Amino acid sequence: NTPLHELDPDVAAAVDAELRRQQNTLEMIASENFAPVAVMEAQGSVLTNKYAEGYPGRRYYGGCEHVDVVEQIAIDRIKELFGAEHANVQPHSGAQANAAAMFALLKPGDTIMGLNLAHGGHLTHGMKINFSGKLYNVVAYHVDDATGQVDMAEVERLAKESKPKLIVAGWSAYPRQLDFAAFRRIADEVGAYLMVDMAHFAGLVAAGLHPNPVPHAHVVTTTTHKTLGGPRGGVILSTAELAKKINSAVFPGQQGGPLEHVIAAKAVSFKVAASEEFKERQQRTLDGARIIAERLVRDDVTEAGVSVLSGGTDVHLVLVDLRNSELDGQQAEDRLHGIGITVNRNAIPNDPRPPMVTSGLRIGTPALATRGFQVEDFAEVADIIAEALKPSYDADALKARVTALADRHPLYPGL
Ligand code: PLP
Repeated sequence: NTPLHELDPDVAAAVDAELRRQQNTLEMIASENFAPVAVMEAQGSVLTNKYAEGYPGRRYYGGCEHVDVVEQIAIDRIKELFGAEHANVQPHSGAQANAAAMFALLKPGDTIMGLNLAHGGHLTHGMKINFSGKLYNVVAYHVDDATGQVDMAEVERLAKESKPKLIVAGWSAYPRQLDFAAFRRIADEVGAYLMVDMAHFAGLVAAGLHPNPVPHAHVVTTTTHKTLGGPRGGVILSTAELAKKINSAVFPGQQGGPLEHVIAAKAVSFKVAASEEFKERQQRTLDGARIIAERLVRDDVTEAGVSVLSGGTDVHLVLVDLRNSELDGQQAEDRLHGIGITVNRNAIPNDPRPPMVTSGLRIGTPALATRGFQVEDFAEVADIIAEALKPSYDADALKARVTALADRHPLYPGL
């Protein structure tokens, strides 16, 4: 029972330093969040020791009576949360969930449609050197240049031309809502499955603040660690009809033993996600993103060549367009990092700069909302970011303002 700091001081020191980094800086990576202590407790539990290949009640190992209880709780809670007929809570990550869902529905060589990576799609939606791009024939759709929104006329045209077996609707970097009913109509017209990857916006859906894709899609995948605020992991929801195919694609199709400690943590996070407190937090997440977008389109900011893709946001993130700025995405990311704000650079549609540099920034509010940020705090963050992206800025003054905000909302007090 030797504690970590005694058994392995090197790893303990790095873990401790990461805790301080999270506490002392402002985390604005749109795909990140802070899991509750109870979620981390479940994830750090003895369930990590247990093999449980199979599913509750049908395992290939003995001694599964307690992990069966945990996994069934997770399944029941997430079905209830999103109104799904079937749930598989075993995927180790969002990418694994997408891979399993595709293995369940497709054969190698089949055609799939997904949002182009530079237009906001995810690697697993058909990027060339991802499994999805290697195994399947990919036809990518895009956002419209003028509106910055997914071009549904193009989706329909491409679907009719290429007759895909699967259409993926979902995104990693897109500031608007998708029209799931329109996607389903198009999928039905060409005989395709509709898979919605709600990894980014699942928390908003759970809170009732974003349309729910479940009634429209054959399959819905998600991560559990983004807006949903749980442990790192994936989930697949589907119709009852597809349940068997999905389950066997996850195990034994793709994975061995499920991570029951993570599944326990998922179950706890699903309980939190059904609460009023969670709903209020998601509302602040949305309000914060809207305020940031509003403050980054003011005249004094646009004069510095900074603008916001699609002109605003309906979700938890803002995409900053730096095509007219002297700063590229890398430089802007570094500047914000230098004053204690963590974001990621992001390719934007028709990006003139290379992918390692980019002309965009993705700024998200879920982690700060979890930390307790209120509307006025988000307004202050927006103003700090705006100042930092101007040609000349006072790094020390901005850093002090960041520290004041971090101090006002302590993260993991007592840890
Ligand atoms: N799907 C979407 C839309 C994502 O944004 C991500 C991660 O960023 C994933 C899937 C993959 O999740 P993971 O990193 O857990 O594999």
